[in-house]
Amino acid sequence: MANPAALFCFREDKTLSNALGIFILTTLFYTFGASLRLVDELSLFWPLNGIMAGIFARHAFLNKPLYYAICYVAMLAYDALTTSWGLASLAINFSNMVFIVTVAMLVLRNDVGRPQFPQALFALRLFGYCLIAALLCALCGAVGSVGIDRRALMPLFADWFSEQFSTGVLLVPWILTMGWPRIQRRLTKEDLWPLLAVVVSLGASVLVGGAGSLTFPLTGLIWCALRYSFATSAFITFCTGVAEIVLVAYGIIDMNAASPLGTNQMFSTRLGIATLAICPLIVGASVTAFNAIMQQVSRRADYDHLTGVHSRSGLYEALNRHTSPPSSLCVLLIDIDYFKSINDSYGHECGDAALAAFGERLQGLVGINGLVARMGGEEFVVIRPGITFNEGLRFAETLRTTLAAQPFCWQEHALHLTVSIGMGFDAAPKETMRETFDMLMREADRFLYASKREGRNRTSYRLHGEAG
Ligand code: GH3
Ligand code: MG
Ligand code: MG
Repeated sequence: MANPAALFCFREDKTLSNALGIFILTTLFYTFGASLRLVDELSLFWPLNGIMAGIFARHAFLNKPLYYAICYVAMLAYDALTTSWGLASLAINFSNMVFIVTVAMLVLRNDVGRPQFPQALFALRLFGYCLIAALLCALCGAVGSVGIDRRALMPLFADWFSEQFSTGVLLVPWILTMGWPRIQRRLTKEDLWPLLAVVVSLGASVLVGGAGSLTFPLTGLIWCALRYSFATSAFITFCTGVAEIVLVAYGIIDMNAASPLGTNQMFSTRLGIATLAICPLIVGASVTAFNAIMQQVSRRADYDHLTGVHSRSGLYEALNRHTSPPSSLCVLLIDIDYFKSINDSYGHECGDAALAAFGERLQGLVGINGLVARMGGEEFVVIRPGITFNEGLRFAETLRTTLAAQPFCWQEHALHLTVSIGMGFDAAPKETMRETFDMLMREADRFLYASKREGRNRTSYRLHGEAG
């Protein structure tokens, strides 16, 4: 979860604006939920608890009695101004707080900060957290609202529980992982197919009706989970779940069956939708974790673990990305002189540390003007496209003299490493970057051998017209 806190304007050191933010968000979503109070006294859909639970879970520093109290006061204030619930409002809103605090605490205790968050197991655990929180919340809420709702305790409990549970499972994963949209690549027509499949299957649910029709969007949702980011597919799952709840509530999806347990249709609908929603979430979390591991693996292969510069295979990957010939190309093959004696005198640990420092220095000297790779052992290559022969030669000499001037310190010893360089240069390559590089590597290798033969600590090259 890359910087999850960045979406909301909460900051650890800004107590006043955090408090204001919590008050405003609570009032906003309380108003929204209250406007959906369609079925008896209970809201058809009550997003406040899931949203606030997600916000508290995303920001560990908000988990203080003060912020929870502000959330509670905002709910009480809204009720005081808009209802005549009196003291019952204390119990009803306390039940909202029970849901929020339970989910936030469970997520913070068990999940936040784990590597590769979200994971498949996280989605499953979230299902359990929402179940526990919804049971506790429903218990308080049903008891608290007996006085103001004409229904008996059990139907009230069933309504509270099923609503809190389904809304929690649909909302919390999305709130926990949502971020500002980032378009990483151009969208293609194929990207829209999974979303279209969800919309079409929702249409089919309306046409066919019956309890089974609620499962129709599942395949589309799993397709979304495979194709989109976790947050996007969690959002589509949330929208689909809400759409199904609304369609059933208004009789547009006709469930057409009397429950033998006497519970109302919405109870079964909500529980069914919550259970369905968890499947695409688990798939989405698994795909996210898999992609993160793949990225890690390919990064390990592209970069040399000791020096941090490109590995040989990473260099070829980078070169293959350039399909047209460079305007000119300079290849410097750099070999540390008498490196074996460092290992022999100070040990391999010293040799490793010297190589790591050398790689870092070389990368620092080349910067963004070229590529650096470790070709093996104590042999490195620097590639600079778009420079003249003289510029290449001057650059090689700058590298050689600067590296020699900066001793590597090992324990109390200052070790001066010198390098021999072989240069390959092409002023107007006709082949691709990769092919030109291969050719110039052979030239650089010949001249590196010449540098070694002529006494080391020097740069050798084939004379070009402009040299002087
Ligand atoms: P010259 O290049 O000047 O001819 O002499 P050299 O001693 O540098 O060359 P040679 O190719 O004979 O030896 C290279 C040495 O580099 C051999 C090996 O001990 C050392 N070496 C190669 N890779 C590593 C590494 O990853 N860690 C350490 N510590 N040493 C390495
Ligand atoms: Mg050497
Ligand atoms: Mg060598």
